[in-house]
Amino acid sequence: MEMIQFVHNYNDESTDRGFQFEFYCDRCGTGYRTPFKPSVTGIATEVLDTASGLLGGLLGTVTEVGDRVHSAAWERAHDAAFAEAVERVKPHFRQCPRCTQWVCVERCWNQTRGLCKECAPDVAVEMSAMQAEAAIEGAREVAHAAKSEEVTAEAFDEVIRAVCPKCGAPVSGGKFCAECGAPLTAEKFCAECGKKIPVRAKFCPECGVRQV
Ligand SMILES: [Zn+2]
Ligand SMILES: [Zn+2]
Ligand SMILES: [Zn+2]
Ligand SMILES: [Zn+2]
Repeated sequence: MEMIQFVHNYNDESTDRGFQFEFYCDRCGTGYRTPFKPSVTGIATEVLDTASGLLGGLLGTVTEVGDRVHSAAWERAHDAAFAEAVERVKPHFRQCPRCTQWVCVERCWNQTRGLCKECAPDVAVEMSAMQAEAAIEGAREVAHAAKSEEVTAEAFDEVIRAVCPKCGAPVSGGKFCAECGAPLTAEKFCAECGKKIPVRAKFCPECGVRQV
């Protein structure tokens, strides 16, 4: 088969009856399957099958061999069908000039940069990932700022929930809620007896006084 410069990752699903290929993106593995193209030689075999069915015996053995060994005509048709299939799916793929990978346009191609997303990551996607990381880092700092030896897993979870314990507004790190100014530390003390109590406690578990 002639060498066609394209996705090396593909599946040849061709049979005696026809040709079909599925090409995969080098980066995400998304597959593009070409429509089934019936083989003319395949149809010929089918005619022969019917004939052998009627005649039985010797002819049957002949077609069995024909099923396994592709004819030269089949091979030629197969090559042509492959070239056609490549032309058909090519618009869905781009070759990255930097890493030479063939990637799908839909998910793995950065149109603005003219590079694959491996070489030129999506800025918006990277930004939100970095923001999420920063938010976790912020929460971690808050948890550490509270007396580190007293930070329990629960207290940490409380902070990492990233909502204000008082008003429920979303918060992104920091020591105080931007909405209501409530402290965002993982600790709270009873207004009456001064014992440490859970942040969301409505009543002090020690003295029973209602908390604000
Ligand atoms: Zn892809
Ligand atoms: Zn690339
Ligand atoms: Zn608040
Ligand atoms: Zn109390």
